[in-house]
Amino acid sequence: MEYSRGQALLSRLPKVRGRYSADAPLSKITWFQVGGPADVLFKPADPQDLAFFLQERPKDIPLHILGVGSNLLVRDGGVPGVVIRLGRGFTNLAIAADGVTLDVGAGVLDRTVALIAQEEGIGGLEFLVGIPGTMGGALKMNAGCYGTEMKDVLDSALVITDKGQLMRLTPQELGMSYRHTTLPDSWVVVSVRLKGHTEESSLLKERLDTLLAQREASQPVRTRTGGSTFANPDGARAWELIDQAGCRGLRIGGAQVSPMHCNFLINTGDATAQDLETLGEHVRMRVLETSGVDLRWEIQRWGDMVTSTQVYGAEAA
Ligand SMILES: Cc1cc2nc3c(=O)[nH]c(=O)nc-3n(C[C@H](O)[C@H](O)[C@H](O)COP(=O)(O)OP(=O)(O)OC[C@H]3O[C@@H](n4cnc5c(N)ncnc54)[C@H](O)[C@@H]3O)c2cc1C
Repeated sequence: MEYSRGQALLSRLPKVRGRYSADAPLSKITWFQVGGPADVLFKPADPQDLAFFLQERPKDIPLHILGVGSNLLVRDGGVPGVVIRLGRGFTNLAIAADGVTLDVGAGVLDRTVALIAQEEGIGGLEFLVGIPGTMGGALKMNAGCYGTEMKDVLDSALVITDKGQLMRLTPQELGMSYRHTTLPDSWVVVSVRLKGHTEESSLLKERLDTLLAQREASQPVRTRTGGSTFANPDGARAWELIDQAGCRGLRIGGAQVSPMHCNFLINTGDATAQDLETLGEHVRMRVLETSGVDLRWEIQRWGDMVTSTQVYGAEAA
């Protein structure tokens, strides 16, 4: 009998309360809707279950942490090892007695946080309304827009290290800078503590409506995309450099540089991950030629270009 790489891996994983799925398609749960499967997708039951898994897992197995994949390109050959996805056990949200501090599970959507803060009269978190990720992804990417980013509203974050140790870290300890933190890739954000300020709920509602309208008018928010493809370089805007390089609307296979916002790549329907990555690299090359700027990918790219048969620490039977 032939076992897949994912099925072979399952037999080496510790017994948890959460759920493992072998050969789990990631294209169904990420924004670009492309790419191959994860060898194993693990949905921990709660933080204790996750910590146990991280302590007991064989240490040679690669780990990736998935939010909702709104800043992510999964390559066509799939993702080796275990992809951890935080579900129901990580969607807590509590407001402290001071009325302006929120403890939010890493699986909660940014938009939900902005809407609840508005209802409760907590200002400062409006920028989250149009960012389509989770709190875990927002922390890791130091997500932001319209002049505010996570580090401006973060009190601290609760994380679990790749060895299963729980730690509370401050923004300084997380090394937060523009769309970047120094949090190791295999450490998991479990929850974040955010600090807002008291503000009139009706004013906040107006601000949310304005932010959402601005976004609808300027970004392809209803398409298969990964958000901003490249980080803005110092003193310049990535989209302007891409436009100057003549890349607006450019296509490779089913991938296209958005005609609406040319720092967004879109899957027009039948793109492969390779189409999207090749197009991104082509754009980088043209920008380098025309302006001398070497753009940095903001979108995270995971996995193999082609399917590999390597099995971690064991031969497939
Ligand atoms: C239409 C659109 C508009 C966007 N607009 C903005 C914007 O205005 N500003 C902005 O900053 N971004 C924007 N983005 C990008 C994206 O939404 C953000 O980067 C978001 O924070 C990613 O969250 P996610 O849950 O989707 O993370 P994913 O895309 O799933 O993962 C992104 C990274 O975060 C890590 N990660 C996710 N969860 C955790 C966790 N619990 N613990 C540790 N690491 C974790 C992943 O390992 C990966 O490295 C946009 C994207 C789209 C599609």
